[in-house]
Amino acid sequence: MKKKEYDYLIVGAGLFGCVFAHEMTKRNKKCLVIDKREHLGGNVYCEEKEGINVHKYGAHIFHTNDKKIWDYVNQFATFNNYINSPLSLSKGKLYNLPFNMNTFYQLWGTKTPKEAKAIIEEQIRQYGTKSPKNLEEQALSLIGKDIYETFIKSYTEKQWGKKATELPAFIIKRLPVRYTYNNNYFNDAYQGIPIGGYNTIINGLLEGVETKANIDFFKDRIDLESLADKVVYTGKIDEFFEYKYGQLEYRSLRFENELHETENYQGNAVINYNDASYAFTRIIEHKHFEFGSQKKTIITKEYPENWDKGKEAYYPINNERNQQIFKKYKEESQKLKNVIFGGRLAEYRYYDMHQIIASSLTKVAEISKIG
Ligand code: FAD
Repeated sequence: MKKKEYDYLIVGAGLFGCVFAHEMTKRNKKCLVIDKREHLGGNVYCEEKEGINVHKYGAHIFHTNDKKIWDYVNQFATFNNYINSPLSLSKGKLYNLPFNMNTFYQLWGTKTPKEAKAIIEEQIRQYGTKSPKNLEEQALSLIGKDIYETFIKSYTEKQWGKKATELPAFIIKRLPVRYTYNNNYFNDAYQGIPIGGYNTIINGLLEGVETKANIDFFKDRIDLESLADKVVYTGKIDEFFEYKYGQLEYRSLRFENELHETENYQGNAVINYNDASYAFTRIIEHKHFEFGSQKKTIITKEYPENWDKGKEAYYPINNERNQQIFKKYKEESQKLKNVIFGGRLAEYRYYDMHQIIASSLTKVAEISKIG
């Protein structure tokens, strides 16, 4: 049989596809990466405006506990020492996140872990239930009334477009609290933002790899498939199978950017807006991710939205219906020997960046072992 032009056609230039392409190119495999968007990088893509790297698809903060993944990304970029310390605006007052001794002081005036713990335990005793039937009951049982009403209720209702009493309890598994004065959102050992933005990593990963933007796999599927021995597919799994078992559902987001003629708009990269009176859930001020000193600033208001086929799919909705449908697509995908499925859309799963990199590296290792 005549050898095809490429070993791998990689559909989707997000982190999964780019890591796969990089690793296979290193192993002397010929790869072609395509993406239907006008740029490469998937959801970590940054758009430069006024000298500021704007995170086009939502704020991305790199964090991991895995030294191997940290070393891996550091091959392609130098990371700054940004520490994510978001604030939260509720009923006109600003609070530190994640829930820690600073938050408790701002909320109740408590100064010691003992005082804060006593209030939380008392509220759990008063408002909690043994077997919570919805998200509200779950949160009250884990954290008590004040924290739930100040930080969780309206924010979560905006995020999911449903009342907390109509949302399933399992959405919130844990609500970690910290009895130290520590505003670092992540517990991970390694954290930062790549200097020059995430495109630096994408460009590094794709060096020496053939790429084509503005190519939708489904517009020319037969011809594209014929180019390579194997396809790595990182798009929506239901779309790959022409929705034959039904459509998987997502929650979407709308981002509204504003340019302000001021050096500093809100003094922090991330501020959450809890109250129902704001339709958006947070404001991102991008320059603070890279300690920018530009004369202007760009902020993004993040509005959660219902999803339909014309919109970007951001968060999978993990209910019984979608899990049943996904299971059928997964079984179909396992029968295809020449297609490798990976990434957040093909696996219908939320992944952080370090997890998606790890999963792509694992896939490469598995394939390389088989030969
Ligand atoms: P994607 O980046 O989505 O790449 C898939 C690509 O496939 C896309 O570019 C798409 O255009 C392309 N594609 C799809 N269908 C086709 C087709 N038919 N033809 C051609 N191309 C196609 N992670 C963190 O670690 N820290 C964070 O702070 C963080 N913040 C986030 C904030 C938001 C709002 C969201 C939604 C996610 C966040 N993440 C964060 C997660 C991070 O974005 C993902 O882990 C990562 O982008 C997943 O990479 P991927 O390659 O699986 O998917």
